Amino acid sequence: MSARYASPMTVSEATEVLGQNPGARVLAGGTDLMVQMRLTRNIPELIVDVKNIAATREIALSDDGLVLGAAVPAVDLTDHPTLRQVYPGVVEAAELIGSSQIQSRASLGGNLCHSSPAADTVPALMAVGAVCRIAGPTGERRVAVEDFCTGPGSNVLADGEFLVSFEIPAPGAGSRDAYLRFIPRNEMDIAVVGSGVSVTVDASGNCTAARVALGAVAPTAIMVPDAAAALIGTAIDDGDLERAGAAASAASRPITDRRGTAEFRRHVAGVLTRRAAAAARDRARASL
Ligand SMILES: Cc1cc2nc3c(=O)[nH]c(=O)nc-3n(C[C@H](O)[C@H](O)[C@H](O)COP(=O)(O)OP(=O)(O)OC[C@H]3O[C@@H](n4cnc5c(N)ncnc54)[C@H](O)[C@@H]3O)c2cc1C
Repeated sequence: MSARYASPMTVSEATEVLGQNPGARVLAGGTDLMVQMRLTRNIPELIVDVKNIAATREIALSDDGLVLGAAVPAVDLTDHPTLRQVYPGVVEAAELIGSSQIQSRASLGGNLCHSSPAADTVPALMAVGAVCRIAGPTGERRVAVEDFCTGPGSNVLADGEFLVSFEIPAPGAGSRDAYLRFIPRNEMDIAVVGSGVSVTVDASGNCTAARVALGAVAPTAIMVPDAAAALIGTAIDDGDLERAGAAASAASRPITDRRGTAEFRRHVAGVLTRRAAAAARDRARASL
């Protein structure tokens, strides 16, 4: 059986066609969807390509922050002239997805909607407080990225809904992010652990705000408020980083699989959080 294909040009056309076809699947870059269809031989009756909707391809950077279309391919982030300075962690996460060929197709919206616990851009988006703009047959709603995934491969999208874009607040002076992941080989593998951290520092370099998120150590990516609390109000020195790392390890609930044992993952969550927090701290101080 082959799938029918629709390519709506507006958000309302997309929600209409999705609402009328409950078994339809959304297509952005297709780097997960095509692989999944081939592996499972589960071919939807209708594929709805959302790439031709202007709002899903938008990159709008302003004093208020960033509006990032859900179907923007990773390469548009990594090639962007200024995004890397403002959201270095989000861009470094996008840069880790697959090879350059994959990055020319793979979107951050697809990375989130596929809802793998190991998706690289998800902890990075959580660290910067990204919010999803979701459109559906009954209108629009907004959901924080940290509340979007409900389990491995599942999320809050209801029938007829799709992800239009991300809204990411402006980091402001003294605020920057970082993302690090560990994989068993140099490239093209799934994260064993990923850690996204954003910190804000004042003029003396002390931490006034922080967000820490981990990937691949629980059924969904998780926020780690205890790790953020270990940084806030400190100079983010070695002892503070150590405490944040310990909190990240303690919050991890990983499984053992062929990429690593649960114990190893818990350890790596601490190491990566320490290092990502130090990188975010140095970037935040340099931004003042
Ligand atoms: C060789 C290879 C290497 C990879 N390496 C990595 C890696 O290092 N790190 C990593 O995180 N991932 C990796 N991936 C996975 C994949 O490339 C990413 O998850 C990618 O970001 C998916 O984006 P996409 O636009 O291709 O999504 P698609 O394949 O188009 O969609 C993925 C899923 O999300 C749904 N969807 C897509 N967009 C929307 C939307 N706007 N609204 C609602 N639902 C939507 C689709 O229906 C589908 O279920 C790799 C894949 C391959 C093939």
